[in-house]
Amino acid sequence: MTLHIPFDNSYARLPATFYTRLKPTPVARPSLVAFNAPLAEELGITGTDDPRLAPVLAGNVLPEGADPLAQLYAGHQFGGFSPQLGDGRAHLLGEVVDRSGTRRDIQLKGSGPTPYSRRGDGRAWLGPVLREYVVSEAMHALGVPTTRALAAVRTGEDILREGPLPGAILTRVAGSHIRVGTFQVFAARGDTEALRTLFDYTVERHYPGVTSPDGLLAAVCERQVALVAQWLSLGFIHGVMNTDNCTLSGETIDYGPCAFMDRYDPNQVYSSIDRYGRYAYSAQPDIVVWNMAQLATALVPLMPDADDGVQVFTRIVHGMADQLRATWLKRFAAKLGIADPRPEDAKLVAGLLALMHKGQADFTNAFRALHSDDARDQFTDREAYDVWDAQWKARIEAEPDPEGLMRRSNPAFIPRNHRIEQMIAAAVDGDESYFHHLNLVLSRPYEDQPDAVELQAPPTPDEVVPATFC
Ligand code: AMP
Ligand code: MG
Ligand code: MG
Repeated sequence: MTLHIPFDNSYARLPATFYTRLKPTPVARPSLVAFNAPLAEELGITGTDDPRLAPVLAGNVLPEGADPLAQLYAGHQFGGFSPQLGDGRAHLLGEVVDRSGTRRDIQLKGSGPTPYSRRGDGRAWLGPVLREYVVSEAMHALGVPTTRALAAVRTGEDILREGPLPGAILTRVAGSHIRVGTFQVFAARGDTEALRTLFDYTVERHYPGVTSPDGLLAAVCERQVALVAQWLSLGFIHGVMNTDNCTLSGETIDYGPCAFMDRYDPNQVYSSIDRYGRYAYSAQPDIVVWNMAQLATALVPLMPDADDGVQVFTRIVHGMADQLRATWLKRFAAKLGIADPRPEDAKLVAGLLALMHKGQADFTNAFRALHSDDARDQFTDREAYDVWDAQWKARIEAEPDPEGLMRRSNPAFIPRNHRIEQMIAAAVDGDESYFHHLNLVLSRPYEDQPDAVELQAPPTPDEVVPATFC
């Protein structure tokens, strides 16, 4: 069959100032590592047995209807503003309207240089491509809004990092790639007309019904709050919450130095480039508020009265603190089997987290073990745990289905750092079997899988991955 991707490209119809139209740079020998058939099906892609599949996903062959372009954006990176970033190694092939009627971007990442590459080579190596594939698909299976992975291909070319490494390209699917930084680039240029066009486009695509800039800001804040609360409840640390990695759709994007923590430590940082802990686990709620303040600033020119706008926006952004507290409590209470938390339940959650921190408990396993007989084995101070356990049991006595709620809220499986590093090392050596195994197990993270206990084990001291690189 002939490969068919039902493109319908709306971003390419926006003004030329929004992007640079250009083709991916062909690679030597494309070969498929992974193709996400269920996702392809969802997107209405057919004819995937076509031998042109790998060349298309490597950017060597342009599929019919594609209109490739690199998107322009700006962003605050670690708090400092970069007035021009943009896709430095990615090409948006186009969009499809999926089976459920949602418009989705199809983007190649690692597909060659663009005018926004700065000093980069426009490429990606196999490790980060497979990491993004595994982690983004795991996030989806965990129920977290996220970009998806449609495919990974090897390019058949080495690229130079610390040494020569195998090159690869990820096909990323997203609700859109509109970022806070997309608004920032036009605000910084004083291009209010482009800003208005972007506003209209974003509202139509993601927030139909919203009619004003403050309406958009409030809606995005709500989604970002929900997202970060969910990250926290899973022990996820994004690692680079720059405003160019913060989407208007509310999806998690950019799996660079991200990691799930093993031991519970609120100050945990993995990213090798995050030297001051700006994006530490427990800093994420403050950072998302900061990011929304940057979106608000970029939207001010769209308000009929700037002073008025600033006041309205300030109220919305300040309101995030209460929303964060409430959604955090809802998520963590669910992990304890409490469906409708009361304010005082925050103490119960905090009490458990304090015990976990003190005893260096494994975040995922301690929560998963709560409704089993060996919960107290997860804690070093067993007497203190027993006291907490008695309070907790009393609290959940009247809950309708604490066990079911806990099983749905406490995964058995997360993509653990040390397993990802082992998977990458094997793939570089030519063995992709562990990559496929990880994807399979992580597609059912809330189910017990006795064959996959190795993925539940925290790292041994010599397996610990202290730092991640992007
Ligand atoms: P990130 O830190 O992943 O969000 O990337 C920040 C910016 O650097 C984006 O504009 C990327 O497109 C760009 N970038 C990252 N890696 C490369 C690369 N290898 N070549 C060109 N641009 C890159
Ligand atoms: Mg990025
Ligand atoms: Mg990145």
